[in-house]
Amino acid sequence: MSSTENKKQVIDTTNIKLAQADSYNALIKGNAEWVERKLGEDSDFFKKLAKGQQPQVLWIGCSDSRVPANEVTGTKAGEVFVHRNIANVCVHSDMNMLSVLDYAVNVLKVKHVIVAGHYGCGGVAAAMSNKQFGLIDNWLRHIKDVYRLHSYELDRITDETQKLNRLVELNVSEQVYNLCKTSIIQNAWMERHDLEVHGWVINLGTGLVKDLKVTSSSPNNLGYVYELDGVNAVAAH
Ligand SMILES: [Zn+2]
Repeated sequence: MSSTENKKQVIDTTNIKLAQADSYNALIKGNAEWVERKLGEDSDFFKKLAKGQQPQVLWIGCSDSRVPANEVTGTKAGEVFVHRNIANVCVHSDMNMLSVLDYAVNVLKVKHVIVAGHYGCGGVAAAMSNKQFGLIDNWLRHIKDVYRLHSYELDRITDETQKLNRLVELNVSEQVYNLCKTSIIQNAWMERHDLEVHGWVINLGTGLVKDLKVTSSSPNNLGYVYELDGVNAVAAH
């Protein structure tokens, strides 16, 4: 390699490092400004925050950077317990999701579990295509299954954007259903009557939430193979 080429490489690396430092330092600066703003609103804000959390809501949303739970709902730190993954999928073999759900429902005693999808979701769009994306294809297959379950309706939508947005809605509804099938939710319903599971879709173009009206607060419509006997009933047999 000639000395000219070596020099060029050094200059390029320096520029990259400068940009890297800038984007990182902006986060530290942003944090300091947030602390200052919060203390301006309430000088005891962090003292109260450090004491513990009593969120009323569990948010299961997409990892997409444009749908942060607190900002979308106008809530503060401490008010929403959050789990996010690509395309807000709730799979009953996902130990991470189940742990978050169990802690939120049985320890924090949240009153609302919200599955929040968003129109234009890249994960749902990828699942609707035939392209390979690598490891993520295994995760997206759960959404392909949602497509198959609703293919009669979806195959009749000719506009691709409309089809994607309808699949986004159906995916949220199916994930609400998946949560209701879990023993965690069903056992909680046997103990208390203040736990609801909701399905939302966020419109990135307006910021507004669409409530899909699929709220469940009992196992009544689960279908008989999904409805579980109570733990006490099982023990009595
Ligand atoms: Zn998404």
